[in-house]
Amino acid sequence: MSEETRAIGYICPDCGKPVYAERTAFALSAAAVGVVCACGHGELTAEPAGDTYRITVPCGVCGGDHRAEVPAKKLLRGGGVALACPQTRQLCCYIGDVYRVEAALRDLEIAAEKKKDNEDPFVDSVIMYEVLSELKEITARDGVSCVCGGRGCSMEVSGAAVDLICPDCGGRLRVPAATSEDLDRLCCQYTLTIRGRG
Ligand SMILES: [Zn+2]
Ligand SMILES: [Zn+2]
Ligand SMILES: [Zn+2]
Repeated sequence: MSEETRAIGYICPDCGKPVYAERTAFALSAAAVGVVCACGHGELTAEPAGDTYRITVPCGVCGGDHRAEVPAKKLLRGGGVALACPQTRQLCCYIGDVYRVEAALRDLEIAAEKKKDNEDPFVDSVIMYEVLSELKEITARDGVSCVCGGRGCSMEVSGAAVDLICPDCGGRLRVPAATSEDLDRLCCQYTLTIRGRG
């Protein structure tokens, strides 16, 4: 089992291409590894530190660099780990089982393509930023619920809105994020209710 192959996948923020690499579990546990994009810019690093790995990943979602600490046993065995962009909460990196990483990377690629299609990602990026931080506050105080009884949500960000998605039923609530009126309307709401599926 020590020669088990692990895969690493992310989207390069510089060129928008998927970056995929395989390393043996042995190589991963022996020393820090770096995975550089073919364009020569983006580089992911995974550095063993005791029972954990310190991961630095260039984020194909927001363009920043994110750091994360991941338990070594999750990284070296089983399905693996997915890292989410803390800015947008969208997944930006996978490390683990070869087949799972390949499949997940294809999904990331499709999402990245979609984003490229609407040139300017946000109608107003300042408003979008404010709306996202407001939503983060509301979710932090457990203010998002669904008529199905579900609590909390995942978020999908598009150009002019943020969709809150119920983890239980998949119902959606669209929060507009394009104008200062959108922001004002959100700021006076203490809780948000997803109206469920259908
Ligand atoms: Zn690149
Ligand atoms: Zn990010
Ligand atoms: Zn629900």
